[in-house]
Amino acid sequence: MKALEKSKPEVGLWMTRAPVPKIGPDDVLIRVRKTGICGTDIHIWNWDAWAAGTVPVPMITGHEFAGEIVELGRNVEGLEIGQRCSGEGHLIGKKSRQSRAGKFHLDPGTRGIGVNEQGAFAEFLRLPAFNVVPLPDAIDDEIGAILDPLGNAVHTALSFDLIGEDVLITGAGPIGIMAAAVVRHVGARHVVITDINQDRLDLAARVTDVVPVNVGHQDLKEVMSGLKMKEGFDVGLEMSGNQRALDQMVENLVMGGRIALLGIPPGKSPVDWSRIVFKAITIKGVYGREIFETWYKMIAMLENGLDVRKVITHRFKVDDFREGFGAMLSGSSGKVVLDWT
Ligand code: ZN
Repeated sequence: MKALEKSKPEVGLWMTRAPVPKIGPDDVLIRVRKTGICGTDIHIWNWDAWAAGTVPVPMITGHEFAGEIVELGRNVEGLEIGQRCSGEGHLIGKKSRQSRAGKFHLDPGTRGIGVNEQGAFAEFLRLPAFNVVPLPDAIDDEIGAILDPLGNAVHTALSFDLIGEDVLITGAGPIGIMAAAVVRHVGARHVVITDINQDRLDLAARVTDVVPVNVGHQDLKEVMSGLKMKEGFDVGLEMSGNQRALDQMVENLVMGGRIALLGIPPGKSPVDWSRIVFKAITIKGVYGREIFETWYKMIAMLENGLDVRKVITHRFKVDDFREGFGAMLSGSSGKVVLDWT
């Protein structure tokens, strides 16, 4: 089969021929139709310090996909050949305290497809049947291929009650933009998204009803007074990993405000903890998606009018994957989807 592989420890990915994966009794084999390129794949492409220290070579990359089940392991029940699906790319253990409590997303032994295990940038993917998420007809393959990052956005956004709240999202990458769409969908009042990348702010405004603010030259306080906000934002979703964005978020939150952190700072970063204490702020770190509650909510919202399609800005045949990665590396794209059919 065709597969997009990190074949050697240097910059780039290479299209290779790999054997079709053999499935175990509890697995399914999926024919991949569409895949999304993630920021994680860009780290692996660039072979930065994180990738070099984490990803064994050779490795088929990729974890955002939609496809069709073509083979079932002998123990698999409740799934069918020909069924369209996406799937959770975090492979979890079932022995930890958290797993046994049903909090699968908190299993400490989680391994990721396309990072620690052979991934989805291939014509066929082996996946435990447990991880498969069947797709309803209302969700096509293209949206199916971005459910993983949409799930990050949904998990982060639904961390706190949003109904009638004023929400600040820092970082207008694809996940920040999709989070804005979710926040709007579930009934927040004002939704403000900040960045210093104007292309991405413009994209945010095309995808959903959000107030884009370029903090490179716009004053957030003025925007807030323009919205007649008196005390500050009730909820903050930090999607940038940028220390100044977090500072600005804390500064502009109400007393007792709540923050969900998805953005990953590049290293240790200084935080003014006393201000967080005196403002009585709650902070929650967010990892992955709740398995499978996030998937359930996400699919239900997509079936009920949540529309994130415009966040997909580039579509390429997989043979043109270099152009797809080029679009990602430009820093101003939305989601980039590769077609394997
Ligand atoms: Zn991803």
